[in-house]
Amino acid sequence: MNLDLHIHTTAYSSCSVMSPDELMLAVIAENLDGVCITEHNRIWSREEAEELSQRYGLAVFRGMEVTTTGGDILVFGMEEEPGGELWNPAVLKQKVDSAGGIAIAAHPFRGFLLFGFGTFQTDLKQSLDNPTFSHVHGLEVCNGMVTDEESALAEQAAEALGLIKFGGSDAHKAASVGTCVTRFEDTLRDEKDLIQAILSGRFLVERMK
Ligand SMILES: [Zn+2]
Ligand SMILES: [Zn+2]
Repeated sequence: MNLDLHIHTTAYSSCSVMSPDELMLAVIAENLDGVCITEHNRIWSREEAEELSQRYGLAVFRGMEVTTTGGDILVFGMEEEPGGELWNPAVLKQKVDSAGGIAIAAHPFRGFLLFGFGTFQTDLKQSLDNPTFSHVHGLEVCNGMVTDEESALAEQAAEALGLIKFGGSDAHKAASVGTCVTRFEDTLRDEKDLIQAILSGRFLVERMK
């Protein structure tokens, strides 16, 4: 089952220019089986996701990209929204754990290599000190909005820390849907399945564009 797991729409992300219908048409055009919609600090209701899923006959899962003091963190399986609060990663992790969900550091090194300091190895060493990484289950190693070098660093860091290697397009427009595709071995029926499948590591993340 092929999914794009990091998506923003105009429904709840003001930075997106893609409506939910434009998203679904892009999902069809990219030959995907569905998506997980991860708006900033908002989660779609079950009913909203179900309605969109049924209308297009495709899987629509729900997550959320939470703004924290330690960077953006994608969460799955957690319904509580931060509202006006700015949580730190440890607080968020507690909430995610008690909800039975998972947390993934989104684009963990976006902009990290901009200043060109050091070599890849010193950058990697330094990157492992990020305290956020002790409060997540995985790192986003494929993200449509980061450079290849930043992706490579994320991949190495996940490897070194024994964290799940997650991927998603971070699409804010239709043309970006399907940039990072996650191919699961199994058919996922609901969000519980999705979380289990991510935890199991039985999937392949592929950069397509
Ligand atoms: Zn982000
Ligand atoms: Zn995002």
